[in-house]
Amino acid sequence: MAWERNVVIKSAAEIEIMRSAGHINALALATVKEAVQPGVTTGELDKLAETVIRDHGATPAFLNYPGPYPYPGTINASVNEEMVHGLPGERELKEGDIFSVDCGTVYEGFVADSAFSVAVGEVPEEALKLLEVTEKALYLGIDKLRSGNRVGDVSCTIQEYVESFGYHVPREYTGHGVGRSMHEGPQVPNYGLPGRGMMLRPGITIALEPMVLIGTPKTQVQEDKWTVSSMDKSLTAHFEHSVAVTDGEPLILTELQPEEVA
Ligand code: MG
Ligand code: MG
Repeated sequence: MAWERNVVIKSAAEIEIMRSAGHINALALATVKEAVQPGVTTGELDKLAETVIRDHGATPAFLNYPGPYPYPGTINASVNEEMVHGLPGERELKEGDIFSVDCGTVYEGFVADSAFSVAVGEVPEEALKLLEVTEKALYLGIDKLRSGNRVGDVSCTIQEYVESFGYHVPREYTGHGVGRSMHEGPQVPNYGLPGRGMMLRPGITIALEPMVLIGTPKTQVQEDKWTVSSMDKSLTAHFEHSVAVTDGEPLILTELQPEEVA
């Protein structure tokens, strides 16, 4: 894996800056989450996130990100079968949708990257279960981001948990190191074998991001050239945190403190 050559160990001071970036990103995501309701457009939610980020002296990491054409938003807004990289715009969320929001923030030269999925109003039981399993997979994976574990230990934990429900993880899209660049080494797939891959050590910072599909591991890029959907149009969900490996407990960089949570 070429990305293993691009692993950057961060100092304690750099991790503190990444925490600040992560905090701003978490505030932007919390603002979006509060505003999710039937009738709101994904473009309106995009502007809310951008405002929070800029008001804190930071910049959106996704805006103009290179791809088939420069990414045109602050958030990825992916609805139902759209797994990642959905473009924000005129689409209105409606009761029964599940909505995935991914957002990145650059602050003092460091990137934070985080995502959540949420129900819009009342959703079928099947959708709630998918959200629950995907979020739990993220936290089970985070618990493996410990010095001395290998990348495969993290990957395998996510895969085994997700597949125990009959769900699927994609092969083409993975977690990744994060730091001065949004994507650096190591690559952290949501599938793998225990005991394989690079050994984790303190100062490695990883954006871990289980993506889960109900019907198939296969995905397809849509006509807009950015949006990635499940091949069979079955529901998908996505949760992500940027996390620092330390001497002890994994340090989640992109969550709010308990007293900040509404
Ligand atoms: Mg992300
Ligand atoms: Mg990411």
